[in-house]
Amino acid sequence: MDAQRPGVAAAAWPALTVAIVGAGQAGGWAAQTLRQEGFNGRVVLIGDEPYAPYERPPLSKGVLAGEAAPGSTALMKPEAFDALRLDWRPGTRVSRIEPAAKRLRMADGENIAYDQLILCTGGRARPLGVAGADHVTVHTLRTLDDAIALAPALAPGRRVIVIGGGWIGLEVAATARHKGANVTLIESQGRLCERTVPREMSAHLLALHRSHGTRVLLGAAIQNLAAHADGSCTVTLSSGERILGDTLVAGIGMVPNDELARDAGLACDGGVVVDAHCRTSDPHIFAAGDVAVTPNPWAGRRLRLESWQNAQQQGMAAARAALGLDVDYQPLPWFWSDQHGMNLQIVGFPMPAHRVVVRGQPGAPGSVLFYLDGDVVQAALGTNAAKDLRFARRLIEQRRPIDAQRLADTTIPMARM
Ligand code: FAD
Repeated sequence: MDAQRPGVAAAAWPALTVAIVGAGQAGGWAAQTLRQEGFNGRVVLIGDEPYAPYERPPLSKGVLAGEAAPGSTALMKPEAFDALRLDWRPGTRVSRIEPAAKRLRMADGENIAYDQLILCTGGRARPLGVAGADHVTVHTLRTLDDAIALAPALAPGRRVIVIGGGWIGLEVAATARHKGANVTLIESQGRLCERTVPREMSAHLLALHRSHGTRVLLGAAIQNLAAHADGSCTVTLSSGERILGDTLVAGIGMVPNDELARDAGLACDGGVVVDAHCRTSDPHIFAAGDVAVTPNPWAGRRLRLESWQNAQQQGMAAARAALGLDVDYQPLPWFWSDQHGMNLQIVGFPMPAHRVVVRGQPGAPGSVLFYLDGDVVQAALGTNAAKDLRFARRLIEQRRPIDAQRLADTTIPMARM
């Protein structure tokens, strides 16, 4: 059990209010953790979506495919959620934080006073800033409602255009192909997932999607969009090529919802800046999840992580910090994606300066790419290799030198490393 910080005595808890803005994954975990730590004061959970906290990864996978019910994404069973005894405000938007008064102002005019505040406002889909986009139905995928609206539009034979070759775009393209749609994916960069995976993996992703019949265009700039009376649309590329589609999906990243924090004068830098105690520049305000910019020793800099694991773990850490418990949040990043039956997992930060050691055939099931600094493993990327990635995580955490030849030798089980 962590030592308690001075100033937030547990004896005072019954009289305190902890408010959480944003009822997504980080907010849900923060609420749950407050109770698990024994906090018996008031917990106000405010979310502008109509749903209790849910998980987003299934939105681009099972929910979009029609194989998972929307309700199955819930973070907690309804009984467990009720047992938290929250002052729960669904469909409610916070429009302002007044840090000096320690007060939140709701869009409907109500005020809520807090003692400690946790910001878990996540992000929203980046809008497509292309000429003509205002006249075309452009689907994005961030919320359950987005997935419910998009799912029927990915029907057999439909011409689906996906803009963006990052994780969301690729998962949407894979699900659309799985449902029998004809898919064209347009990526402006020279390779897929350029921001997050090394070259070897981009090449594998390209081969995977092409082998499943998706037309992938790389280095393709969109000039404009045009809507047609029957609901279809045309995307014109700067090369002059025109692509006709029935459904258009933009998966071009997310924008952190940090406006509340910025307007309140909190330090922001592409998200809400927090320290290793999840604390913002205001001592009574904490932040977690996709919106938080956190010092990361594994990357050697401050950054914002957009991942399921981080939303959960930082939501928990922020709740503990808000109670005055000692927290030192230094996450080793972990992310996964499922596409065309391939489970890709990345642990750590692969960087261009790292030496790559390949175990197995790159991209083939069971293969792992290790990224080394000298003889020390810094990151690993596995394809259908979940168990080996768990061992890789341990190697990274231990920072022990390792023989690269042994790493590459598939006859030596990872457990023996
Ligand atoms: P969010 O889940 O975005 O929650 C924030 C909530 O705050 C939202 O409900 C928002 O509406 C609300 N809010 C914002 N402003 C206000 C306000 N002013 N007042 C009230 N409420 C407000 N990660 C992986 O590791 N693997 C995956 O395979 C994977 N797949 C994904 C697939 C999709 C389609 C998406 C969208 C994400 C995926 N992720 C995945 C990422 C992961 O889901 C996110 O990192 C995680 O959901 C972030 O949680 P969060 O609580 O920080 O933010």
